[in-house]
Amino acid sequence: MNNAFFNKTDATEIIAVEFKTKSNQPISLLVKRDDKIDPLVSGNKWRKLKYNLAYAIGNGYKGVASFGGAFSNHIFALSVAGSQLGIKTLGFIRTHKLDANNPTLQFAKEKGMNLIALSRDDYQQRNNPAFIKTLQVSYPDYFFVPEGGSNNLAESGLQELATEINSQANNQKLEFSHIACAVGSGGTICGLAKHLPNRNFLGITVVKDELLFETILNRSSSSTKQIRLHHDAWFGGYGKFDQELVEFCLDFYQQTDIPIEPVYTGKLFYALCYQRQQLGLSSNDVVLAIHTGGLQGIAGQLYLNKFEDPKWRKILESNVPTDS
Ligand SMILES: *Cc1c(COP(=O)(O)O)cnc(C)c1O
Repeated sequence: MNNAFFNKTDATEIIAVEFKTKSNQPISLLVKRDDKIDPLVSGNKWRKLKYNLAYAIGNGYKGVASFGGAFSNHIFALSVAGSQLGIKTLGFIRTHKLDANNPTLQFAKEKGMNLIALSRDDYQQRNNPAFIKTLQVSYPDYFFVPEGGSNNLAESGLQELATEINSQANNQKLEFSHIACAVGSGGTICGLAKHLPNRNFLGITVVKDELLFETILNRSSSSTKQIRLHHDAWFGGYGKFDQELVEFCLDFYQQTDIPIEPVYTGKLFYALCYQRQQLGLSSNDVVLAIHTGGLQGIAGQLYLNKFEDPKWRKILESNVPTDS
């Protein structure tokens, strides 16, 4: 067992960058490069899995099971973390049939993950305890982690991220008005906000989900004051985007040298650069954006023929080493 995998002591860097919009407006940003925490188990998935895997191993479970879509960053990360720590992994995938050529699933399988297809109807029940119990009958020695890895154990990892941000802000004398991140299940923003109670948060939602706001309000008692959710960068919903967003991602990378993709971080940075007024930001406000990783998702978009520009393959290959 390789316990060292989650025992990193170095903080991921926070860098200052400037982006010029198409109308030449300069945008100053601070970016926490959590995408660099590990090339495969990237960003918030590393933070959220750390204590989930420690718990499963510490409590004698034979494996860890979880849920995700066919291109899920969480499934990808769990497969790698499990293989690093020597614990079996099981992924319930939202699909009618497992596609052997899907790069995310292919890689997870190579890492030893056992993949099981769940129909859309079954997948709808992924958070229903009675349904999970029926799955546990077949996998009694598996520790079940919810989709996206958002649970109480994940919060311990996010608390560490919060502590890291606090000490970097103090040591580097960083000034910022808000902390911003992309919001899927809301686990990351709630975990961070809870442990950084004196900071204001902007959550850029990437899922067209009316219930999300309520979920987040319920999870975080102070969130009404502390967290502001922004629903204007959906580009049609989860996993959807248009050419404008694709071009923005490439422009942002070109100008800042920070790779982003259009499912999560592209929407975050698009909002911070082009929707500042809706976010209530003045031109001098500096936001600390958390780069939550997710660059493996580029492989899926290439597979789906969503990217024409050859730069995308280069971005993927230089950031996500999947053939080693
Ligand atoms: C999973 C994921 C998110 C969403 O995090 P939540 O805690 O579910 O809100 C954001 N960014 C990236 C890159 C992700 O992979």
